[in-house]
Amino acid sequence: MLLMTPGPTPSPEFLRRAMADETIHHRTPEFEAIFGRARNRLKTFMKSSEVILLASTGSGAMEAALTHFCAKRALTINAGKFGERWSKIAAAYGKNPIELKYAWDTPASVADVENALKNNPEIDALFIQICESAGGLRHPAEAIAAAVKAIRPDVFVVADGITAVGVENIDATHIDALIAGSQKAFMLPPGLAAIGLSESAVKRIEATGGTGFYFNLATELKNQRKNTTAWTATTTIVQGLDAFFERLDQIGEERFYADTLKRRAAGEAALKAIGAQIYPKVAAPSMLSVFHQNAASLRKWMKKEALVNVAGGQDDLKDTLLRFNNMGFVEPNALAWSLNALEMAMDKIGSRKYDGAANRAFTETYYR
Ligand SMILES: *Cc1c(COP(=O)(O)O)cnc(C)c1O
Repeated sequence: MLLMTPGPTPSPEFLRRAMADETIHHRTPEFEAIFGRARNRLKTFMKSSEVILLASTGSGAMEAALTHFCAKRALTINAGKFGERWSKIAAAYGKNPIELKYAWDTPASVADVENALKNNPEIDALFIQICESAGGLRHPAEAIAAAVKAIRPDVFVVADGITAVGVENIDATHIDALIAGSQKAFMLPPGLAAIGLSESAVKRIEATGGTGFYFNLATELKNQRKNTTAWTATTTIVQGLDAFFERLDQIGEERFYADTLKRRAAGEAALKAIGAQIYPKVAAPSMLSVFHQNAASLRKWMKKEALVNVAGGQDDLKDTLLRFNNMGFVEPNALAWSLNALEMAMDKIGSRKYDGAANRAFTETYYR
Protein backbone atom coordinates (compact mmCIF):
# COMPACT_ATOMS: atom_id res chain seq x y z
CA MET A 1 0.00 0.00 0.00
CA LEU A 2 1.39 3.38 -1.00
CA LEU A 3 0.98 5.78 1.94
CA MET A 4 0.33 9.18 0.37
CA THR A 5 -1.29 10.97 3.31
CA PRO A 6 0.11 14.35 4.36
CA GLY A 7 1.21 12.97 7.71
CA PRO A 8 2.16 10.53 8.90
CA THR A 9 4.37 10.22 5.86
CA PRO A 10 6.13 6.93 5.08
CA SER A 11 9.62 6.38 6.56
CA PRO A 12 12.08 5.48 3.80
CA GLU A 13 14.33 2.48 4.28
CA PHE A 14 17.43 4.46 5.31
CA LEU A 15 15.49 5.98 8.22
CA ARG A 16 13.89 2.69 9.25
CA ARG A 17 17.36 1.13 9.32
CA ALA A 18 18.78 3.95 11.43
CA MET A 19 15.95 3.40 13.92
CA ALA A 20 16.51 -0.37 13.94
CA ASP A 21 19.90 0.03 15.63
CA GLU A 22 20.25 -1.37 19.13
CA THR A 23 18.58 0.55 21.95
CA ILE A 24 20.84 3.14 23.53
CA HIS A 25 20.32 4.45 27.04
CA HIS A 26 19.52 8.15 26.94
CA ARG A 27 21.94 9.11 29.76
CA THR A 28 25.09 8.02 27.95
CA PRO A 29 27.82 9.86 26.03
CA GLU A 30 26.82 7.79 22.96
CA PHE A 31 23.27 9.11 22.89
CA GLU A 32 24.27 12.62 23.97
CA ALA A 33 26.55 12.86 20.92
CA ILE A 34 23.67 11.91 18.62
CA PHE A 35 21.24 14.22 20.41
CA GLY A 36 23.65 17.16 20.33
CA ARG A 37 24.40 16.68 16.64
CA ALA A 38 20.73 16.34 15.65
CA ARG A 39 19.62 19.29 17.79
CA ASN A 40 22.36 21.59 16.49
CA ARG A 41 21.59 20.67 12.91
CA LEU A 42 17.88 21.24 13.52
CA LYS A 43 18.71 24.67 14.94
CA THR A 44 20.43 25.78 11.74
CA PHE A 45 17.77 24.06 9.63
CA MET A 46 15.03 26.06 11.39
CA LYS A 47 17.19 29.22 11.50
CA SER A 48 16.47 29.59 15.22
CA SER A 49 18.49 30.91 18.13
CA GLU A 50 17.63 27.80 20.08
CA VAL A 51 15.60 24.68 19.52
CA ILE A 52 13.89 22.45 22.06
CA LEU A 53 12.92 18.87 21.30
CA LEU A 54 9.87 17.45 23.07
CA ALA A 55 8.64 13.90 23.44
CA SER A 56 5.16 14.50 22.06
CA THR A 57 3.33 15.02 18.81
CA GLY A 58 3.03 18.53 17.42
CA SER A 59 0.06 19.41 19.58
CA GLY A 60 2.19 19.10 22.73
CA ALA A 61 4.59 21.69 21.33
CA MET A 62 1.61 23.90 20.44
CA GLU A 63 0.43 23.68 24.04
CA ALA A 64 3.94 24.44 25.40
CA ALA A 65 4.19 27.48 23.12
CA LEU A 66 0.88 28.80 24.38
CA THR A 67 1.69 28.37 28.06
CA HIS A 68 5.06 30.11 27.65
CA PHE A 69 4.34 32.95 25.24
CA CYS A 70 0.82 34.05 26.10
CA ALA A 71 0.30 35.59 29.54
CA LYS A 72 -2.82 37.68 28.89
CA ARG A 73 -4.80 37.16 25.71
CA ALA A 74 -4.26 35.13 22.54
CA LEU A 75 -5.02 36.13 18.96
CA THR A 76 -5.66 32.99 16.93
CA ILE A 77 -6.06 32.40 13.20
CA ASN A 78 -8.61 29.70 12.42
CA ALA A 79 -8.92 28.55 8.82
CA GLY A 80 -9.19 24.86 9.61
CA LYS A 81 -8.81 22.10 12.17
CA PHE A 82 -5.33 23.12 13.30
CA GLY A 83 -6.13 26.81 13.66
CA GLU A 84 -9.19 25.77 15.65
CA ARG A 85 -6.80 23.81 17.88
CA TRP A 86 -4.95 27.04 18.75
CA SER A 87 -8.23 28.53 19.97
CA LYS A 88 -9.09 25.41 21.96
CA ILE A 89 -5.68 25.31 23.66
CA ALA A 90 -5.88 29.04 24.44
CA ALA A 91 -9.38 28.61 25.89
CA ALA A 92 -8.24 25.62 27.95
CA TYR A 93 -5.66 27.88 29.62
CA GLY A 94 -8.10 30.76 30.15
CA LYS A 95 -6.46 33.03 27.54
CA ASN A 96 -9.87 34.09 26.18
CA PRO A 97 -8.77 33.96 22.54
CA ILE A 98 -9.78 36.48 19.93
CA GLU A 99 -10.22 34.31 16.88
CA LEU A 100 -9.97 35.47 13.28
CA LYS A 101 -12.03 32.88 11.43
CA TYR A 102 -11.77 32.15 7.71
CA ALA A 103 -13.23 29.66 5.29
CA TRP A 104 -10.87 26.68 4.98
CA ASP A 105 -9.75 27.72 1.49
CA THR A 106 -9.03 31.33 2.42
CA PRO A 107 -5.74 32.69 3.78
CA ALA A 108 -5.69 35.11 6.71
CA SER A 109 -5.25 38.77 5.88
CA VAL A 110 -2.52 41.04 7.23
CA ALA A 111 -5.04 43.87 7.67
CA ASP A 112 -7.34 41.73 9.86
CA VAL A 113 -4.43 40.94 12.17
CA GLU A 114 -3.35 44.59 12.30
CA ASN A 115 -6.89 45.68 13.20
CA ALA A 116 -7.25 43.04 15.88
CA LEU A 117 -3.97 44.17 17.47
CA LYS A 118 -4.94 47.85 17.33
CA ASN A 119 -8.38 47.22 18.85
CA ASN A 120 -7.23 44.82 21.55
CA PRO A 121 -4.15 46.04 23.39
CA GLU A 122 -4.36 43.11 25.81
CA ILE A 123 -3.31 40.66 23.06
CA ASP A 124 0.23 39.52 23.81
CA ALA A 125 0.67 36.59 21.42
CA LEU A 126 -0.41 35.57 17.92
CA PHE A 127 -0.92 31.93 16.94
CA ILE A 128 -1.01 30.88 13.31
CA GLN A 129 -0.31 27.94 11.01
CA ILE A 130 2.14 28.46 8.16
CA CYS A 131 0.36 25.70 6.29
CA GLU A 132 -3.14 24.87 7.56
CA SER A 133 -3.21 21.18 6.72
CA ALA A 134 -7.01 20.85 6.93
CA GLY A 135 -7.34 22.37 3.45
CA GLY A 136 -3.69 22.48 2.32
CA LEU A 137 -3.85 26.26 2.70
CA ARG A 138 -0.80 28.54 2.85
CA HIS A 139 -1.23 31.55 5.15
CA PRO A 140 0.96 34.62 4.52
CA ALA A 141 2.52 33.85 7.90
CA GLU A 142 5.81 35.67 7.32
CA ALA A 143 4.04 38.88 6.21
CA ILE A 144 1.66 38.65 9.16
CA ALA A 145 4.59 38.10 11.54
CA ALA A 146 6.38 41.15 10.11
CA ALA A 147 3.22 43.25 10.45
CA VAL A 148 2.77 42.20 14.08
CA LYS A 149 6.33 43.18 14.93
CA ALA A 150 5.97 46.51 13.10
CA ILE A 151 2.96 47.49 15.24
CA ARG A 152 3.68 45.73 18.52
CA PRO A 153 7.22 44.30 18.77
CA ASP A 154 6.40 42.91 22.22
CA VAL A 155 3.71 40.55 20.87
CA PHE A 156 5.03 36.99 20.50
CA VAL A 157 4.52 35.35 17.13
CA VAL A 158 4.01 31.60 17.34
CA ALA A 159 3.86 29.71 14.04
CA ASP A 160 2.82 26.09 13.64
CA GLY A 161 5.17 25.02 10.89
CA ILE A 162 4.45 21.32 11.22
CA THR A 163 3.63 20.99 7.50
CA ALA A 164 6.00 23.81 6.46
CA VAL A 165 9.35 23.08 8.16
CA GLY A 166 11.28 20.83 5.78
CA VAL A 167 8.86 21.69 2.98
CA GLU A 168 9.80 25.29 2.35
CA ASN A 169 12.75 27.47 3.22
CA ILE A 170 10.85 29.56 5.77
CA ASP A 171 11.85 33.10 6.65
CA ALA A 172 11.74 32.93 10.45
CA THR A 173 12.96 36.53 11.01
CA HIS A 174 9.79 37.68 12.77
CA ILE A 175 8.72 34.36 14.23
CA ASP A 176 9.46 33.78 17.93
CA ALA A 177 8.43 30.15 18.14
CA LEU A 178 8.38 27.88 15.10
CA ILE A 179 6.92 24.42 15.64
CA ALA A 180 7.84 21.23 13.78
CA GLY A 181 6.82 17.59 14.11
CA SER A 182 8.59 14.35 13.26
CA GLN A 183 5.85 12.68 11.20
CA LYS A 184 5.61 15.13 8.32
CA ALA A 185 8.58 16.29 6.17
CA PHE A 186 11.11 14.49 8.44
CA MET A 187 9.40 11.17 7.54
CA LEU A 188 9.86 9.83 11.08
CA PRO A 189 7.31 8.13 13.32
CA PRO A 190 5.00 10.45 15.29
CA GLY A 191 6.23 11.33 18.79
CA LEU A 192 8.91 14.00 18.47
CA ALA A 193 8.13 17.71 18.27
CA ALA A 194 10.45 20.71 18.11
CA ILE A 195 10.14 24.41 18.89
CA GLY A 196 12.61 26.77 17.24
CA LEU A 197 13.04 29.92 19.32
CA SER A 198 14.01 33.53 18.65
CA GLU A 199 16.35 35.39 20.98
CA SER A 200 13.45 37.15 22.69
CA ALA A 201 11.65 33.83 23.14
CA VAL A 202 14.75 32.41 24.84
CA LYS A 203 14.91 35.51 27.07
CA ARG A 204 11.25 35.14 28.03
CA ILE A 205 11.73 31.48 28.93
CA GLU A 206 14.79 32.24 31.03
CA ALA A 207 13.19 35.25 32.73
CA THR A 208 10.02 33.38 33.72
CA GLY A 209 11.72 30.10 34.58
CA GLY A 210 9.23 28.37 32.31
CA THR A 211 5.64 27.30 32.89
CA GLY A 212 4.21 23.97 34.00
CA PHE A 213 6.13 20.79 34.62
CA TYR A 214 6.52 18.22 31.82
CA PHE A 215 6.43 20.84 29.07
CA ASN A 216 8.53 23.34 31.03
CA LEU A 217 10.74 24.92 28.37
CA ALA A 218 13.19 26.41 30.89
CA THR A 219 13.90 22.97 32.36
CA GLU A 220 14.28 21.52 28.86
CA LEU A 221 16.48 24.30 27.57
CA LYS A 222 18.83 23.98 30.52
CA ASN A 223 19.19 20.23 29.90
CA GLN A 224 19.27 20.35 26.12
CA ARG A 225 22.11 22.85 26.10
CA LYS A 226 24.03 20.03 27.80
CA ASN A 227 22.91 17.57 25.09
CA THR A 228 20.44 15.81 27.32
CA THR A 229 16.71 16.01 28.04
CA ALA A 230 14.75 16.62 31.23
CA TRP A 231 12.81 13.35 30.82
CA THR A 232 13.57 10.22 28.83
CA ALA A 233 14.35 11.25 25.28
CA THR A 234 12.62 9.69 22.26
CA THR A 235 15.93 7.98 21.55
CA THR A 236 14.84 6.04 18.48
CA ILE A 237 13.27 9.01 16.71
CA VAL A 238 16.28 11.20 17.53
CA GLN A 239 18.52 8.55 15.91
CA GLY A 240 16.22 8.80 12.88
CA LEU A 241 16.43 12.61 12.88
CA ASP A 242 20.22 12.40 12.91
CA ALA A 243 20.08 10.06 9.90
CA PHE A 244 17.65 12.40 8.15
CA PHE A 245 20.13 15.27 8.39
CA GLU A 246 23.03 13.09 7.31
CA ARG A 247 21.13 12.27 4.10
CA LEU A 248 19.84 15.82 3.67
CA ASP A 249 23.39 17.16 3.81
CA GLN A 250 24.46 14.78 1.07
CA ILE A 251 21.67 16.09 -1.12
CA GLY A 252 21.76 19.73 -0.06
CA GLU A 253 18.93 21.79 1.41
CA GLU A 254 18.44 23.80 -1.75
CA ARG A 255 17.97 20.71 -3.87
CA PHE A 256 15.61 19.20 -1.26
CA TYR A 257 13.32 22.25 -1.36
CA ALA A 258 13.60 22.54 -5.14
CA ASP A 259 12.52 18.89 -5.58
CA THR A 260 9.46 19.53 -3.42
CA LEU A 261 8.44 22.46 -5.62
CA LYS A 262 9.17 20.54 -8.80
CA ARG A 263 6.87 17.67 -7.71
CA ARG A 264 4.21 20.17 -6.70
CA ALA A 265 4.33 21.87 -10.12
CA ALA A 266 4.09 18.48 -11.87
CA GLY A 267 1.24 17.43 -9.59
CA GLU A 268 -0.70 20.62 -10.24
CA ALA A 269 -0.22 20.18 -13.98
CA ALA A 270 -1.61 16.64 -13.70
CA LEU A 271 -4.65 17.86 -11.75
CA LYS A 272 -5.27 20.62 -14.28
CA ALA A 273 -5.03 18.12 -17.14
CA ILE A 274 -7.88 16.05 -15.70
CA GLY A 275 -9.98 19.03 -14.65
CA ALA A 276 -9.55 18.36 -10.92
CA GLN A 277 -10.12 21.36 -8.69
CA ILE A 278 -7.34 22.48 -6.35
CA TYR A 279 -9.16 23.39 -3.13
CA PRO A 280 -7.33 26.28 -1.42
CA LYS A 281 -7.09 29.76 -2.92
CA VAL A 282 -3.41 29.75 -1.98
CA ALA A 283 -2.03 26.21 -1.95
CA ALA A 284 0.85 25.18 0.28
CA PRO A 285 3.54 23.01 -1.34
CA SER A 286 3.24 20.35 1.38
CA MET A 287 0.28 18.64 -0.24
CA LEU A 288 -2.08 18.57 -3.20
CA SER A 289 -5.55 19.25 -1.87
CA VAL A 290 -8.31 18.43 -4.33
CA PHE A 291 -12.01 19.22 -4.05
CA HIS A 292 -14.41 16.69 -5.60
CA GLN A 293 -18.08 16.03 -4.82
CA ASN A 294 -17.34 12.29 -4.82
CA ALA A 295 -13.97 12.39 -3.11
CA ALA A 296 -14.98 9.62 -0.70
CA SER A 297 -15.78 7.17 -3.53
CA LEU A 298 -12.62 8.15 -5.39
CA ARG A 299 -10.48 7.50 -2.33
CA LYS A 300 -12.17 4.18 -1.69
CA TRP A 301 -11.50 2.98 -5.23
CA MET A 302 -7.90 4.25 -5.17
CA LYS A 303 -7.16 2.40 -1.96
CA LYS A 304 -8.82 -0.86 -2.93
CA GLU A 305 -7.83 -1.13 -6.60
CA ALA A 306 -4.69 1.01 -7.01
CA LEU A 307 -3.34 0.46 -3.47
CA VAL A 308 -2.88 4.19 -2.90
CA ASN A 309 -3.88 5.64 0.45
CA VAL A 310 -4.57 9.39 0.27
CA ALA A 311 -6.20 11.44 3.02
CA GLY A 312 -9.74 12.74 2.90
CA GLY A 313 -10.91 15.96 4.48
CA GLN A 314 -12.15 16.73 7.98
CA ASP A 315 -15.49 17.98 9.36
CA ASP A 316 -17.66 19.49 6.56
CA LEU A 317 -15.07 18.52 3.94
CA LYS A 318 -14.74 14.92 5.14
CA ASP A 319 -16.15 13.41 1.96
CA THR A 320 -15.23 16.11 -0.54
CA LEU A 321 -11.45 16.49 -0.24
CA LEU A 322 -8.53 14.32 -1.31
CA ARG A 323 -5.14 15.28 0.11
CA PHE A 324 -1.96 13.88 -1.46
CA ASN A 325 1.31 14.18 0.46
CA ASN A 326 4.20 16.13 -1.04
CA MET A 327 6.47 16.27 2.05
CA GLY A 328 9.83 14.58 2.40
CA PHE A 329 11.58 12.36 -0.11
CA VAL A 330 8.46 11.51 -2.12
CA GLU A 331 9.43 9.49 -5.17
CA PRO A 332 8.13 11.27 -8.28
CA ASN A 333 6.86 7.93 -9.61
CA ALA A 334 4.82 7.46 -6.41
CA LEU A 335 3.08 10.79 -6.87
CA ALA A 336 2.64 10.21 -10.61
CA TRP A 337 1.05 6.81 -9.93
CA SER A 338 -1.22 8.31 -7.26
CA LEU A 339 -2.49 10.98 -9.65
CA ASN A 340 -2.90 8.36 -12.36
CA ALA A 341 -4.95 6.38 -9.83
CA LEU A 342 -7.12 9.44 -9.27
CA GLU A 343 -7.69 9.69 -13.00
CA MET A 344 -8.63 6.00 -13.17
CA ALA A 345 -10.97 6.41 -10.21
CA MET A 346 -12.66 9.36 -11.91
CA ASP A 347 -13.31 7.09 -14.88
CA LYS A 348 -14.72 4.34 -12.62
CA ILE A 349 -17.27 6.67 -11.04
CA GLY A 350 -18.14 8.16 -14.43
CA SER A 351 -16.89 11.68 -13.81
CA ARG A 352 -14.27 11.74 -16.59
CA LYS A 353 -13.10 9.28 -19.22
CA TYR A 354 -9.57 7.93 -18.68
CA ASP A 355 -6.99 8.90 -21.28
CA GLY A 356 -3.73 8.98 -19.30
CA ALA A 357 -3.65 12.79 -19.20
CA ALA A 358 -2.62 13.02 -15.51
CA ASN A 359 0.45 10.84 -15.91
CA ARG A 360 1.40 12.52 -19.19
CA ALA A 361 1.14 16.04 -17.74
CA PHE A 362 3.02 15.01 -14.60
CA THR A 363 5.84 13.35 -16.53
CA GLU A 364 6.17 16.14 -19.09
CA THR A 365 6.24 18.82 -16.41
CA TYR A 366 8.55 16.97 -14.05
CA TYR A 367 11.14 15.92 -16.60
CA ARG A 368 11.10 18.97 -18.81
C1 LIG B 1 -0.05 17.23 11.83
C2 LIG B 1 -0.23 18.61 12.26
C3 LIG B 1 -0.18 18.97 13.62
C4 LIG B 1 0.15 17.98 14.73
O1 LIG B 1 -0.89 17.22 15.10
P1 LIG B 1 -0.60 15.99 16.07
O2 LIG B 1 -1.84 15.18 15.95
O3 LIG B 1 -0.39 16.51 17.41
O4 LIG B 1 0.60 15.30 15.52
C5 LIG B 1 -0.31 20.30 13.97
N1 LIG B 1 -0.49 21.24 13.02
C6 LIG B 1 -0.53 20.96 11.71
C7 LIG B 1 -0.71 22.05 10.72
C8 LIG B 1 -0.41 19.63 11.29
O5 LIG B 1 -0.46 19.32 9.99
